[in-house]
Amino acid sequence: MLVPFAEPIYVTRPFLPPLADYAAGLEEIWRNVRLTNDGPILRRFESKLARSLGTENLALFTNGTLALHLALRGLGIRGEVITTPFTFAATTHALVWNGNQPVFADIEPTTYTLDPSAVEAAITPRTGAILAVHVYGYPCRLEALADLARRYRLPLIYDAAHAFGVSVEGRPIGQFGDLSMFSFHATKPFHSIEGGLLVFGDGKQRRTFDLLRNFGLANETDVLLPGTNAKMNEFQALMGLQLLDHLDGIRERRRQIDALYRDQLGNLPGLRIPPAPSVHVTSNYSYFPVEIEPTEFGASRDQLCEFLKGYNVFARRYFYPLVPDFACYRDQFGAVPLPNARRVASQILTLPIYDSLALEDVARICAVIRSLERLDRSKRV
Ligand SMILES: *Cc1c(COP(=O)(O)O)cnc(C)c1O
Repeated sequence: MLVPFAEPIYVTRPFLPPLADYAAGLEEIWRNVRLTNDGPILRRFESKLARSLGTENLALFTNGTLALHLALRGLGIRGEVITTPFTFAATTHALVWNGNQPVFADIEPTTYTLDPSAVEAAITPRTGAILAVHVYGYPCRLEALADLARRYRLPLIYDAAHAFGVSVEGRPIGQFGDLSMFSFHATKPFHSIEGGLLVFGDGKQRRTFDLLRNFGLANETDVLLPGTNAKMNEFQALMGLQLLDHLDGIRERRRQIDALYRDQLGNLPGLRIPPAPSVHVTSNYSYFPVEIEPTEFGASRDQLCEFLKGYNVFARRYFYPLVPDFACYRDQFGAVPLPNARRVASQILTLPIYDSLALEDVARICAVIRSLERLDRSKRV
């Protein structure tokens, strides 16, 4: 007999380091009396990141959205930017804040990242850059996009908000393209409470980002750029620094959950699971999306989502609606035909996955999903 969970199960739950560890770090902040502005803990976090990502060309920010905004600003991106409709609002908002016109190209049907042939078809003399998203941490078609960027001389920028800890053939994913943005928001698989990271190929950009995130101030009297305030503070840096030591443990727990979902849901008619990561990819298992094909499954994605809520399980429709269908964008972009993205947005549901989710709870969530699939069609929600 399936009963609802006593406590709600959300799609994610942040990892927290042992309180004693964080408290010890707080004592250091109290001794330093440095709370923000390039403090010593931020410096330590940056050098540890540099070692693990294999590059010194990085900069930390107070969140991923401002990091992406300043990336576009710092790289001088102008005009139209070809991007994906299947993403979180911030990807597109950053373009709009920078004065760029987003041009939406369709996604791949099974891995949900930008389709390089759709990107190529959208390139015009007005195109200023390509902004692709490693959605769910799934690597984009890295070589095909790099090839386009080279042939058309376009900057290639990655929104890697979901992809911290992902590597391809042993190379950290931030080493691809001209620049990558990682989000360290509490809901991401790695976090610094709130936070953002840029990793870039050209070391000269470091100075620009240092200026942009701190009002453009070079020193007390020289203001070199109209920057903003996007600095990461010491409390954030402390969280991020301590979490780096737990990254592999978090990844392993998520891998087990991913494997159990695949095992328990893999053969359900009408429920499609994206392919497991290839042997060349080290995944971070940041999300567990499934696609519900309503006629075969016998219930729609929204019906499954509601059914799960009845058991106190809160799956999320990431990413629905598509960005061009948002109220603030649909008058401009609503008419763009994006058949793959529209189908995926109408069928996708991301299931709970986080390090502290017990495997027996995963099995129970799967049993709830299977019980809907078996339910007499006339009695379904
Ligand atoms: C979370 C997210 C962002 C924004 O990151 P914040 O750190 O929350 O500002 C940008 N793009 C995508 C795809 C995201 O999921």
